[in-house]
Amino acid sequence: MNNPDAHYPINAPKYFPQQCPVCLHDIELKPVYKEFGTNGQLWVFKCPRYQCQAVFSVLHTEHKTVQFPGDNQSLMNQDELRAISERFVTTYNQAIKAERLKMTELYGEGYRKAVEYLVKDFLIKFGNLSKSEKQISKMHLGDAVNKLPDARLVNLAKASTWLGNDQSHVLQKHPEYGVEDLKKFIEALAAFSIYTMRAKQAEEFVNSDD
Ligand SMILES: [Zn+2]
Repeated sequence: MNNPDAHYPINAPKYFPQQCPVCLHDIELKPVYKEFGTNGQLWVFKCPRYQCQAVFSVLHTEHKTVQFPGDNQSLMNQDELRAISERFVTTYNQAIKAERLKMTELYGEGYRKAVEYLVKDFLIKFGNLSKSEKQISKMHLGDAVNKLPDARLVNLAKASTWLGNDQSHVLQKHPEYGVEDLKKFIEALAAFSIYTMRAKQAEEFVNSDD
């Protein structure tokens, strides 16, 4: 491992990572180790940033490329969430990135905005409100939260909004709660949304079996 350049292909393959999955900086990543076997091509990288130096690997086979650890550490199923709210997933991932890059002025607002998208898209899909998509999108967040069809959802959305606001204010109203609590509430809200969608799919399936 003492001469990283020896492992560096002249043309980096497309599946090489474009950024460090830990610090998320876009850096030219050179592999420090490679092993080609029957499982595929294994590459080990080390982030060249002095402050990070994270080690991670990429396994490339004919069919797929798996990076460990990946960019997304979230437990949420992003594909299902995208079906409910594409803009939630995009905004939430950007907020996570801002948080990891220590952009403290941005991530609280980002998380709060992500919650707003999720709440409104939930209402559009599952709310049974007699309102158009446009009308729901224009609602005040507080009014939208109160239209959620389950008290537990209302509480999760309120808690997420309050803590999101808190993270973006200089004076915190709830200093005993931090950004980790905020993310737990948002992830629960997202999980609830996924379960609601699956329950609806099950309902449609059962009802179609007459
Ligand atoms: Zn790094």
